[in-house]
Amino acid sequence: MQRVRQVGRYGIPAARHCLERGAFELGVRECDRDAGTRRGSRRRLRCARCGHAITEAEQRIVVAGSHAHRFANPSGWVYEIGCFRDAAGCRAVGGPVAEHTWFAGYCWQIALCAQCGGHVGWRYQGGAAVFHGLILERLTAER
Ligand SMILES: [Zn+2]
Repeated sequence: MQRVRQVGRYGIPAARHCLERGAFELGVRECDRDAGTRRGSRRRLRCARCGHAITEAEQRIVVAGSHAHRFANPSGWVYEIGCFRDAAGCRAVGGPVAEHTWFAGYCWQIALCAQCGGHVGWRYQGGAAVFHGLILERLTAER
């Protein structure tokens, strides 16, 4: 399989074939790392627009060394995203696309709130590994 390695406009390595294994190992979920010691990890994170439950705090993972990442898309919009293992309240549409990916080896799809259709982030897939990068300011934490 031919590999295409590019460095995008923002210096971010991009677009290796998405059927390869993702270049980054996915970190363990918070609930796996600190099992039994955490309280409130089932706290839901909701769509800031409609209140639909998107994911839970316990689904937070570390990808490429960090949970939160700040990226610019090709149009120059800057997003601060957090990485989550599962996001049951999302609906992925389009793609998957390898171009302009923010995580080498992972293809992306747009992730919408399953209730209101608002854009809440992206679903990433590299081989069998899947995670969600969710736009943090579009989520609200349940109190
Ligand atoms: Zn919504």
